Amino acid sequence: RAKAGGKARYEVFDTSMRDRVVALFQLETDLRRAIDNQELHLHYQPIVSLVNQKIVGFEALVRWQHPQRGAISPAEFIPIAEETGLIVPIGWWVLQQACLQMQLWQAQFAMNVPFKISVNFSAPQFTQPQVGKQIIQILQATGLDAKSLQLELTESVLMEHPEAIAALMEELNALGVSLALDDFGTGYSSLSYLQRFPINILKLDRSFVCRIGKCYQSWEIVRATIMLARALDMEVVAEGIETLEQLARLRGLKCKFGQGYYFSQPVDSTAAGELLAQQFDRLVEVVSRK
Ligand code: C2E
Ligand code: MG
Ligand code: MG
Ligand code: MG
Repeated sequence: RAKAGGKARYEVFDTSMRDRVVALFQLETDLRRAIDNQELHLHYQPIVSLVNQKIVGFEALVRWQHPQRGAISPAEFIPIAEETGLIVPIGWWVLQQACLQMQLWQAQFAMNVPFKISVNFSAPQFTQPQVGKQIIQILQATGLDAKSLQLELTESVLMEHPEAIAALMEELNALGVSLALDDFGTGYSSLSYLQRFPINILKLDRSFVCRIGKCYQSWEIVRATIMLARALDMEVVAEGIETLEQLARLRGLKCKFGQGYYFSQPVDSTAAGELLAQQFDRLVEVVSRK
């Protein structure tokens, strides 16, 4: 009896494991075709000045509309893309799409202030040969000024290949591309990394922002990060601002930039263009003619 029960349990486990592996494999296969099938698109989330609530840039966030399963969250498919290397072609597609869109907006609107498009970059993308050249090529092909581009990377990227990435970051920084450390405070890098790499922006992780009014330690971490950034001549962007109270506390700490649902969710390019139209004069009226 004990043996039969054990076997049954074993089989249940076995089947669910197999289902999981099959599902993952299917997702990988589908993702491989997603670019060619035009199932990927970008959403844009405003990054705003906390002083005057004006938009100073957008973060580009990839979206996958699966033909059968509908929208699949990047939290689900980006890790698979990273493990399989598919993030490399996807990442180039994202970068080129984001630069192109930004260049179009610059041609449409009188953006009389520095305004950036911020693009997430994963470790496998940074370790490609010729990655610097490829980024320059995309800037040239899309006609976007390097100063309008910001790349977001996480602490783990820096830790995996510090030398190669330091050299690349110096190269990109010299061109005018800014570099932001994403999800700051959640990784395991030492503070000495902030000195070693030419980082311009710290993106303070949402987990601290969401507890800022509830937990004294989170408030202290935010305060210390803002002071550290100021001392090292970096800017801070607070991620995941959802409430007026969080905004007020961040402003109290003289945090200058933020993003979050309080201001806007990530939106499609049309809606992002409408946000720009509220803030900037139009340079050209776009008239569609048959
Ligand atoms: P991330 O780069 O830290 O992006 C911020 C995430 O927080 C986005 O989730 C955004 O929608 C979400 N968010 C923004 N404001 C709020 C808020 O007020 N409350 C809450 N609860 N969430 C907020 P999303 O778009 O699902 O992306 C998740 C992650 O997937 C990103 O985190 C990034 O690590 C990765 N990712 C997304 N697009 C790309 C991409 O094109 N390339 C790479 N390599 N990674 C990407
Ligand atoms: Mg990001
Ligand atoms: Mg982040
Ligand atoms: Mg994140």
